[in-house]
Amino acid sequence: MASIPAGIPQTTSVAIRSENLCRHYRMGQTVIRAVDGVSLQIEAGEFVALLGSSGSGKSSLLNMIAGLDHPTSGSVTVQGRELAKMTREELAKHRLHVVGMVFQSFNLIASMTVLENVELPLRFAEVDRSKRDALAREALERVGLQARMNHRPSELSGGEQQRAALARALINRPQILLADEPTGNLDSRTGTEIMDMVREFNSKLGMTIVMVTHERALAERYVERLIFLADGKLVGDQENTLAMSSSQARSEL
Ligand code: ADP
Ligand code: MG
Repeated sequence: MASIPAGIPQTTSVAIRSENLCRHYRMGQTVIRAVDGVSLQIEAGEFVALLGSSGSGKSSLLNMIAGLDHPTSGSVTVQGRELAKMTREELAKHRLHVVGMVFQSFNLIASMTVLENVELPLRFAEVDRSKRDALAREALERVGLQARMNHRPSELSGGEQQRAALARALINRPQILLADEPTGNLDSRTGTEIMDMVREFNSKLGMTIVMVTHERALAERYVERLIFLADGKLVGDQENTLAMSSSQARSEL
């Protein structure tokens, strides 16, 4: 990870901060305000859900935190560094080492084995083969998929594919996991398994988790804080007292 220049105060407890963040799409004569002035702060180690109906701007917001998309105006700061001020190399490092991301559709490469998919970020990081292999096996073990590592994604169930995607997101040991509807393509039992795993990353590894979902009941079972979006605006931000606390989850393990 790029080191923080001396003299700049490091606010280590804040993982993500957005200030008046906007992402507008111009479609001919009309402007779609996908994200429209969102200011929020997420502390390191929090487990947060971004809730809202389809089209409310959840994915657009998450993609800007991931550095996959740029704001129209406003700013996103991740671990004290504003993404818009990063060089291209720093942004690549951000995507590689600071945030891990999983998607509803898994986004695994069909022609590669599970092991190759999981190692891919390390290949981009030019990590040598033996180290890559060891780290990928470790990540696969963490998600309980070591027996399937030589299979191709099409040979796995949806839940197994999402576990492979989680292993890939974890391989660089990012501090932040961004999950966009990670259970959206899974039945509820399999979805629960994935959520149990994500909660374990939060409680055991101390990862900050931001999970997009439109399933409020699922979010209420797991996360500590619920953030609501509607029409690109933040319309609610509340602590969730219904969730099993991380310490309860820890004692369950
Ligand atoms: P959500 O993830 O909550 O369903 P999105 O962030 O995907 O919402 O989309 C928010 C709004 O922005 C929607 O109206 C969507 O149609 C629009 N939108 C998203 N991406 C684009 C794009 N690349 N071009 C134009 N409009 C977009
Ligand atoms: Mg979305």
